[in-house]
Amino acid sequence: MSSPETLATSRPARWKWLDNIRTRPGPYTDPDVFDPDAAVKTMDTMKVLVIGAGGLGCEILKNLALSGFKDIHVIDMDTIDISNLNRQFLFRQDDVGKSKAEVAARFVERRVRGVKITPHNAKIQDFDESFYMQFQLVICGLDSIEARRWINAALVDMVDENVEDSIKPLIDGGTEGFKGQARVILPTVTSCIECQLDMHAPRAAVPLCTLASIPRQPEHCIEWAHVIAWDQEKPFPQLDKDDPVHINWLYQKALERAKEFNIQGVTYSLTQGVVKNIIPAIAATNSVIAAACCNEALKIATNCNPFLGYPDNNYMMYSGNDGIYTYTFKHERKEDCPVCGSEARELALPVSKPADWTLRELVESLAGRPEAQLKKPSVRAAGKTLYMQSPPSLEQQTRPNLDKTLEELGLSEGQEIAVTDPAFGAVTFRFRLKFKKQ
Ligand SMILES: [Zn+2]
Repeated sequence: MSSPETLATSRPARWKWLDNIRTRPGPYTDPDVFDPDAAVKTMDTMKVLVIGAGGLGCEILKNLALSGFKDIHVIDMDTIDISNLNRQFLFRQDDVGKSKAEVAARFVERRVRGVKITPHNAKIQDFDESFYMQFQLVICGLDSIEARRWINAALVDMVDENVEDSIKPLIDGGTEGFKGQARVILPTVTSCIECQLDMHAPRAAVPLCTLASIPRQPEHCIEWAHVIAWDQEKPFPQLDKDDPVHINWLYQKALERAKEFNIQGVTYSLTQGVVKNIIPAIAATNSVIAAACCNEALKIATNCNPFLGYPDNNYMMYSGNDGIYTYTFKHERKEDCPVCGSEARELALPVSKPADWTLRELVESLAGRPEAQLKKPSVRAAGKTLYMQSPPSLEQQTRPNLDKTLEELGLSEGQEIAVTDPAFGAVTFRFRLKFKKQ
């Protein structure tokens, strides 16, 4: 065991202040087992996985490297777009079109000597359990709920009580405009991302009647052009949201409608934003959230201070929309969580009897429900397949069921249905049907 002084002098001065935290006992360290070398050694060998090399990912990679992590992997399937450059500061004009993971990894390696960053220009779904098993910590900086749900399910599934080290702490950051959140998940121990799905309610869809009759906001005019005018006029066979000609067609249509109803604010870029469902990204919000995530990583790795997620508070929300407000609370694990719980989740239907709803209505409703958010659901009940999205032969065979009522399919109050979705691999979502009281 070396003293803090010898360790500090044997290491580059660059890490002096970090080592002050890592090599000295603090109010929360156990004096009986404290070893000043341990935290440094742990971080030197610890393998950390970063998912996403975009707005949050650039910040996370930089912070981890500057916090003393040495062996980092990063996954991102995206290439650099010119619109990323205002906040994804590891990228330059010359990098446009190149892999985010690769460019980010090389940049941080050049700036922070001694750190190794292994880039993976791939999808998270391309890797199997043995890949994820090699890491001690996973940090997500993603903008997609689907990707979060996938990695969450994979990490929960990997937990094996007989295998030490099979619980991989998951730190998740997310931002939207001036708002964000940081949370820590200990798979199977604390509430998981699926338990917390209601924190990500899908954006309330504007009712079609508002779009069709009384638009009030520029977004309504754009949605009208997107949903109604495009369908009626079919200016091109298929809408390509990346084609400026198509976006411009929608923009002009939306503009005409906005004039008619005396609504200001329809622009080309708003049209693009609404149609592509782009979430506003602000550099400084990404910094705040990534910093919170990386401090938790440092605490988990070194045990120097209690971290978010254990034993109580596990979710920090940050809101800069109206002044600044932060709030940290405990999100409870849910027994009816399809990923980490054991019970079926209740599915409250908007009709009072099984004869009033078709399977199609049920299947289509699953995408918009906060507790489900499943876009391509396949449904089974009582061991029978009711509807399958794929393969095509099975889809065709089960398609006639879509127009049958729940009653005709033998579904009734309290019945359990099993839903799968290609976005979530082997996870089965169990729902218990509940009809509206008359
Ligand atoms: Zn859960």
